[in-house]
Amino acid sequence: MRILLVEDDRMIGQGIVNALKDAAYAVDWVTDGATAIESTAAETYDLILLDLGLPQPEGLEVLRNLRPREKVPVIIVTARDEVDDRVTGLDLGADDYLVKPFEVRELLARMRAVLRRQGGGGQSVLSNGVVSLDPETREARTETAACALTAREFALLRALLTRPGTILTRSDLERHIYGWNEEVESNVVEFLIHAVRRKLGAEVIRNVRGVGWMVARDGR
Ligand code: CA
Repeated sequence: MRILLVEDDRMIGQGIVNALKDAAYAVDWVTDGATAIESTAAETYDLILLDLGLPQPEGLEVLRNLRPREKVPVIIVTARDEVDDRVTGLDLGADDYLVKPFEVRELLARMRAVLRRQGGGGQSVLSNGVVSLDPETREARTETAACALTAREFALLRALLTRPGTILTRSDLERHIYGWNEEVESNVVEFLIHAVRRKLGAEVIRNVRGVGWMVARDGR
């Protein structure tokens, strides 16, 4: 799952990046409005965290630019506690907002809630009938196995379980595991798939030779 963080404060930005990586999100961090708009045109994100007080253009302008062309969920994360800004942001199509300072746990919970609504389900646990995955605890379960996954194992299985029946290529999966500034280690996808299969059973992830990997839809 790939997140765009738009935040010009270095300390807050680095804190959020670290927290998101710990929570197994791939994150791209930009510090001004213009780069934010360019990034959304160049890359597909699952969610955007948007500060309002930014070098030009400001966050509300970024949102105004974004909304006619992109449905991606947006959470406004801002120090401004003025009601006017929050109302304007929500009216422009933001999905939620969080006022700084906040606890990381709350940010992560709001992200999960927005992503759940976006997925159209009220379910927090992802499942395809073969394997289920709890985004809060990173625990994966099958009929015969239950175990905690590492952040990257979780990121990989989440990417697959969000799209059961869809083949994801190596680069699709890498996008969900790594942000821009992270060096992609070779064979990491095979390594993680091997690790998940060892924990949960080989049948959990299917290999489509020469194309990529998928999980079954509706347990079949
Ligand atoms: Ca700011």
